[in-house]
This record gives sequence, structure tokens and C-alpha cells, in this order.
Amino acid sequence: MELAGKKVLVIGLGRSGIAAARLCIDKGARVEVTDAAPRERLSREALALEAAGATLTAGGHPPSLFDGTDLVVISPGVPSFPALEAFEKAGGEVIGEMELAARFFVGTPIGLIGGTNGKSTTTALVHVMLEASGKKAFIGGNFGTPLAEVVGQSFDVIVLEISSFQAERVPTLHARVHVLLNITDDHLDRYPSFEAYANAKGNPFVNMGPDDVAVIESGDKRLRRQAERGDAKIVTFSGHSADVYADIEGGAIVDNTRGARYPLSILRIKGAHNIANACASIAAATAIGATEDGIRAALASFEGLGHRTALVGELDGVRYYDDSKGTNVGASVAALRGLAEDKAVLIAGGKDKLGAYEPLVEALRQKGRALVLIGEAADRIEAAARGVLPVARASSMVEAVRVARRFAKAGDAVLLSPACSSFDMFRDYKDRGDQFAQAVQSMLEVRS
Ligand code: ADP
Repeated sequence: MELAGKKVLVIGLGRSGIAAARLCIDKGARVEVTDAAPRERLSREALALEAAGATLTAGGHPPSLFDGTDLVVISPGVPSFPALEAFEKAGGEVIGEMELAARFFVGTPIGLIGGTNGKSTTTALVHVMLEASGKKAFIGGNFGTPLAEVVGQSFDVIVLEISSFQAERVPTLHARVHVLLNITDDHLDRYPSFEAYANAKGNPFVNMGPDDVAVIESGDKRLRRQAERGDAKIVTFSGHSADVYADIEGGAIVDNTRGARYPLSILRIKGAHNIANACASIAAATAIGATEDGIRAALASFEGLGHRTALVGELDGVRYYDDSKGTNVGASVAALRGLAEDKAVLIAGGKDKLGAYEPLVEALRQKGRALVLIGEAADRIEAAARGVLPVARASSMVEAVRVARRFAKAGDAVLLSPACSSFDMFRDYKDRGDQFAQAVQSMLEVRS
């Protein structure tokens, strides 16, 4: 892609916006950068763009920024505004950082992993499978490093986690493989409708051809509708009629795309949702060049990521799991159903994303010993769960853990899987999970 002499406007100065701006400067573009936050709230790295040659406008995006602009690179989740709409309407090009960076990797196969839940786990597992197959594989996108930070380096294959916001702005990005794991309620506070959210997630399918592979859960019509927006070959995972599925009685994951079997007993990640993630990972990694041996080695070594149903302690025969990354109802339902224990005390609540809580209450009907609620969403969750199981409130994580301990019986689990985001009470989901683990740890110390 030729950027020399062009005027590029980068909107939003988080890590990926900064990486996009640096890339454009390196390629000889005239770069303007802007962020809605005032100057004093910008990071050191954002401010350093000025010394690198960019013109910075903080505290808003005045329409004059678009004068003479050839290309706009917009950060995920920046809401639309009139000057941007006018620029697009007049035929101006607006793309995301992932699209921009991918234009410098033509010829390197790209695997995208999207979905409401399980993206990070699947992205990480696909990456391990490819590395264990002897490939030099880049992992990034929504997962850690933006692709723009590594333009100029060379890889055999690129694996990118992609969020719905990123998927809105990839008009020409060509994926060799695109996994869309699932679509359930999330971010309904930021999309006009569920359909709009699903359509955003399915965008990357549009550019795929018959030599490419779309990986979707079997039997899900909504996912299939998205995958069929392009011409990719569809490979399904999970259910019994799927191309890649878990044969529980036979004790193996069967991959019919190449007639391979992988023993379930070697898997380190637990729960039905993680078996689904493993099946999807096998389908994707196989389509993008992983070997059977590499996949087997990866399944046997991958222990999962922190804050995703991670065991953080055991006290009085009760196991405590940190699933702080369970930030929507679908995730928490999967985490709850995936537990090996028959009953669980669930700690949930936080910043409300305005989805329906009924599916969570359904799962609690079977597996819930009690429900301990924190945060802003507590009233709505309690209203949905009233009469189904005992419900208590807590105003801090320490109190929530203490209350949960009182409800739990030997053999139960205590699960932190909030079904909400964390920003009402915590810095982020990691902070929330760490506070949970610390609260459990201090109970263990008092005990010993
Ligand atoms: P993401 O990157 O999409 O947020 P993660 O791999 O970080 O996904 O997992 C986030 C949470 O989603 C987990 O903590 C778990 O509660 C839930 N989860 C993981 N995989 C799945 C799946 N395949 N289906 C439903 N829920 C899942």
C-alpha cells in the first residue's frame, strides 16, 4: 500500500491507534492524530507521536481535520459523528488498524478468530498449535499486540483475535480462515440491535473465496447466515454432525476434515465450552497448516489463560474459580455449565450490558446453590432470579467471597463469573479477578 505523501487522519489514540499512526509516519504519510480525551489524559506514547512528526488534536475531532484527508484510520468502538459520516458519504476511505496493517502482509495467510465468547482462548490455542507445527506464527489483534506494530517482520502465518468493533472496519482484509465461535447477547448497550452486532461480527466472511475456510459452530443458523455472506468453504465444529466434534464415549475429538483423532484425556482445559474451543481451534489450525503432531502437542500443553475458569484455591472441600473474563450472560452460562462440580455459588454482577439475564437464571436453576450479587446490575439480576435460589448482596469482593463461603457446602464450587463488565467497581476484569483471588487467599491464610 502506498502512503507516501498522503494525508492520513488517525482517530482514537489507544495502543492500536498509536501503532497505526507510527506505521503511517514510517511509510511517509502526513499524519494527523486526534482523540476525544483532553491532552492531560493522553498516554505518554500518544503524546510522543508529535515528536515523531504527527499533528495532534486532543479533546475532540473538529470537522476541519478532514480537510484534504485521503484516508481515515479509526479505532474500534469510536462512535460515529457528523464530520466522519460526511467524509464517508463523499467517498472517503475509513478503515481500522487491522485492515491497514494487513495491507502490508499480502501473501501471508491470516487466521481470524471472532465470536462473543472464547476468542482469546481459541486464538491462543490456534497459535500454540501452529508454533508446535514448526510455523513462525504471529498472535495479536484484539489479543495483545496490534498487527501494525510488527509490519516489516515476516511470519509464516498470522493469527488475530478480532472484536465486533474491529470487524466493522476491515473492508478488504482477506482471511484464509475465519472462525466465528458463537454470537450471543453482548454490547447491546453499544449496538442498535442484535442483528447489527451479528452483522458486524460476520463482515470478514464477505471477502473470502472457495479456497478459504469459515469455521462455525454446527447447527447455528445465525452463524451460517453470516458465513454464507462470502464463498468460503464452511467447516463446522461441536455438535455430533459437525466436521470436528468431541466423541465423548469414544474419548476423542474427531476431525473429519482429515480423518484425525485426538484423545480427550490429553486436554488440560476443562468444561464443555473449552472442548468446543478446542474443536474450533483444531478446525482452524488444520486449515491454516498445522500438523497432526503439532495439534496433539498443543492440546497436551495448553493450560488455558488466567481469569477464565481458573482454579485459585480450595477451602473446606470447596473449590474457588476465577472466571472474571465471563463478562456477559453467555460466558457465565458456559462457565457454570462447564464446572465439574454439581453445585456452585455464583458471584455475579457489575456494569450492566442490558442483555437478558434469563439464560443465566435457567443455568442457576440446575447448578446454583446460591447467588451473591455485586455492582450496578444487582437489581436487574435479582429481579430475574427471585424465588429460584437464595440471593445475597455484597458491596465489595472481600464481602462477596465471605458470603459465598457461608452458602457453599463441601463438594461445591464458588465461581466468580460476573456476566457483566467490571468498570463500576474495578479497574478491569483482571483487577476484579485478582481481588477475588486475594480474598480467597487471605481466607486460606487465616485458616492455616
Ligand atoms: P473472549 O476473548 O471472547 O472474551 P475468552 O477466551 O477470554 O473469550 O473467554 C471469556 C469467557 O467466556 C470465559 O471466561 C468463559 O466464561 C466464557 N467462554 C469461553 N469459551 C466459551 C465458548 N466457547 N462459549 C461460551 N462461553 C465461553
